[in-house]
This record gives sequence, C-alpha cells and structure tokens, in this order.
Amino acid sequence: MAAIKPGRLIVLAAPSGAGKTTLAHKLLALVPKLKFSISYTTRPPRETEVQGEDYFFVSEDEFGEMCANDAFLECAEVFDHWYGTSQEYIQSLLDQGRSVLLEIDWQGAAQVRSRRPDAVSVFIMPPSRDELERRLRGRRTDSEPVIQRRLRDALSDMAHWHEFDYIVINDDLDSAVAELAAIVGAGRDENRTKSPETQARVKAILAVSR
Ligand code: 5GP
Repeated sequence: MAAIKPGRLIVLAAPSGAGKTTLAHKLLALVPKLKFSISYTTRPPRETEVQGEDYFFVSEDEFGEMCANDAFLECAEVFDHWYGTSQEYIQSLLDQGRSVLLEIDWQGAAQVRSRRPDAVSVFIMPPSRDELERRLRGRRTDSEPVIQRRLRDALSDMAHWHEFDYIVINDDLDSAVAELAAIVGAGRDENRTKSPETQARVKAILAVSR
C-alpha cells in the first residue's frame, strides 16, 4: 500500500481588521482537505464561542503545564492572554494526509517557521489604511481610545509582513480566497512569493502618512 503523503502546514496571520476570520472560513469551505487547527487559549470564551470548536479554553495552570511538557508547536501572549498550537493535534492531522490551517499571530508564525521549515506562511493585508480604520471602527460600541489602540496594534503587526512567504491583499474577498486556495494547493513556489508588485503595494499601504 502506498504511504500517505503528509499534508501541508499553512500559517495565516493578519492584523485585526484585515478580514482574516472571514477569509479562513471561506477557504476551509473551499478546500475540504484543509483542517482548522483549534488552538488552546487562556482567554475566556465569548458568548458565541464553543469549547473545542473555536478554541480549547483552558486555565492558566493547564496552559502552563502544557508549556512545561513541550506540548505546543508555538505559543504567544496576545492582548493579555496566552494562545498555543498543540503539536500532537496538528501532527496527527498531517500524518493522515490532511493539510492544516493555523490562524495565529506573527509571533507564533515566527516560531513555526523556525521549528517547521516546511510550513508555508501567509500574511493578509488590508487594501488600505483607510479601509483598515473603517473596519476597526465597524464595532460601534468601542470607545475612541480602544479604536486608537487597535489601530496602533494593527500597524505594528503589519510591520512583520516581510517575514512571510506570501502576502495576500484582501481588497476583494473572493479573489483573496482563490489566491489562498492556490497557495494551499501549490505549497511554496519561490516564483510566486511576494512579487515586486505586491511588495510595492504593501509599502504604499504602510507609507501613507496621516
Ligand atoms: P482572538 O482572541 O480574537 O480569537 O485572537 C486574538 C489573536 O490571537 C489573533 O491574532 C489570533 O490569530 C491569535 N491566535 C489565535 N490562536 C493562536 C495560537 O494558537 N497561537 C498564536 N500565536 N496566536 C493565536
């Protein structure tokens, strides 16, 4: 019997407001062999979130114990809470030939790249700073200082774009999903990663002075 070809490890990161969650849901629906990696977190669940579907919600002690046992492929503190990817969970999926999607922050992405050089990392950019601000202001309940902090955090996250294999600019949802599906299908193709045009666009988005 032929050995099962292991799946691909895909890392997706983005600043908040870039539309990462919507993109990830659409991508998972489009590519059936791709499975979402359910992270562990010490953050309390939001109203709509389900234990074991959105996250494995654990206490700080449980998280610390997993860390001590080297259970995480990567882990990081994001917005005052800890998040981590279970090494065993993703490896069992990869061994079954499934590809795995990690929706994590840039710090975790850096750890995955150093421990798993086979991983393909993708950074999602918003189409412009104005659009990013519009999306971050979308939740009308947030106060101005909260919005300003989220904007600052998004800008500092975006400073890490060049560390990633691919950049996908999310100006049109369907084409961004199609681009991601092509990346999942092809893996890392040095000819397609970060074209000069994409790099110029990213620099233009970041350079706007306000
Ligand atoms: P949220 O709490 O809003 O679901 O996620 C906050 C941030 O944590 C997002 O940027 C998300 O991508 C990131 N995140 C979620 N799971 C993980 C994980 O397992 N590891 C790391 N490093 N970041 C994660």
